[in-house]
Amino acid sequence: MELRLYDTLTREKRVFRPLDSARVRMYVCGPTVYDFAHIGNARPVIVFDVLFRLLRHLYGAKHVKYVRNITDVDDKINARAAERGVPIRDLTEETYKNFKDDVAALGCLEPTVEPRATEHIAEMKTLIERLVESKHAYVAEEHVLFAVSSMPDYGKLSNRSLDEMIAGARVEVAPYKRNATDFVLWKPSKPGEPSWPSPAGIKAPGRPGWHIECSAMSWKHLGEVFDIHGGGIDLVFPHHENEIAQSRCAFHTGAMANYWMHNGFLQVEGEKMSKSVGNFLTINDQLDHWGGSVLRLNMLKTHYRQPIDWTQTNLKEMGRELTRWTDLTQSNSEDDQDGVRTIVEALNDDLNTADAITQLRGFYKSKNVSALRVGMELLGLSTDPKSIQGRKHKRMYVEAGHISITGQSVQLTIAPGSIEKLIAARNSARSARNFSEADRIRDELATMGVVLKDSKDGTTWELAR
Ligand SMILES: [Zn+2]
Repeated sequence: MELRLYDTLTREKRVFRPLDSARVRMYVCGPTVYDFAHIGNARPVIVFDVLFRLLRHLYGAKHVKYVRNITDVDDKINARAAERGVPIRDLTEETYKNFKDDVAALGCLEPTVEPRATEHIAEMKTLIERLVESKHAYVAEEHVLFAVSSMPDYGKLSNRSLDEMIAGARVEVAPYKRNATDFVLWKPSKPGEPSWPSPAGIKAPGRPGWHIECSAMSWKHLGEVFDIHGGGIDLVFPHHENEIAQSRCAFHTGAMANYWMHNGFLQVEGEKMSKSVGNFLTINDQLDHWGGSVLRLNMLKTHYRQPIDWTQTNLKEMGRELTRWTDLTQSNSEDDQDGVRTIVEALNDDLNTADAITQLRGFYKSKNVSALRVGMELLGLSTDPKSIQGRKHKRMYVEAGHISITGQSVQLTIAPGSIEKLIAARNSARSARNFSEADRIRDELATMGVVLKDSKDGTTWELAR
């Protein structure tokens, strides 16, 4: 089956045909770097990472360009920096670094380019000048505003008519706006805020609005029209609607991107996530409790367009499932391309990760080690057993009779190699139905603080607590 993707703009699943198969181009709106990203922000990052992997598989890694921007100039950033009393640049650098660490732990590949808004002010100003010249934008009280009424089919992505929007506008209308729905392309900066020389003959220094940032960065790195534009469903209106308006009117094109993809909402334990409810989860604190692969599997078991309920019960279940899978993948096997084909087939159907995971369960059941391994890799799920535990989990590092548990060292009275030998001796005793000997070995280890755990996959050991 060919790759088919659901396009929010045309509201149908369509066969994916890149404009240029030697250069498949995707843009996804990235974070505004002012605070730790919440777990809802992890959803587009993971979903579009799977699409990036799939496109690389289908077209070759060198032929796919994935751009995910960094919004490092924004009102929220200015407010937070002032609140914390730190320079803006320090806040954005620190937050960006945390974000990079978080998404790496989630098993995401780095995008081809991660452009920063503050490094694309010149492109934004060029777009703004063009829009003013072509009467799609106007200057009012040192602001530049996009004239929504200049674009007859504005609102197509979110399926809103311009008349309805103007009638229903409840935002407090700034007096300098011609229409309530007109949006800011450029605005003056207050003292102390980041500022640049303004476009369109405005004397006072200013800064860009959020929407123009993405139009400028996608243009610079992907061109006037590109293949896929992605983001969370909350960005459809107004952000993506406004990106389309800016780019199409600046370049006089019929489209900004040929496929618009949006992931669904995420709620926590059946409720909308909010700081006031106290169920606000950051990626960073989830990683303390769960390994990145568990979070990733939990995200991907629901199709990206469906809403997802983020629950502890599901995370535990995914942790157990991933443990079984990674255990099985530790055994040797030949590479089996059937696994790849099956997973690609599932993903080709509008990135059906839920189906792909059902296939992985089948591979596990039939003990098809290589198919399970390559399938997991294609979904970006680590086969390393260490990827299951969170950072705060007590980790044991065993080295020549010496064990350290998250920094604290304890001297073992028995070398780990000897523990393994005793386990083997106990296993032979059990096979010979000599249960008193098996119990004696278990008790001997227990006196040395080593606890055995038997499961259908074999015997493991850990330190008594
Ligand atoms: Zn954007």
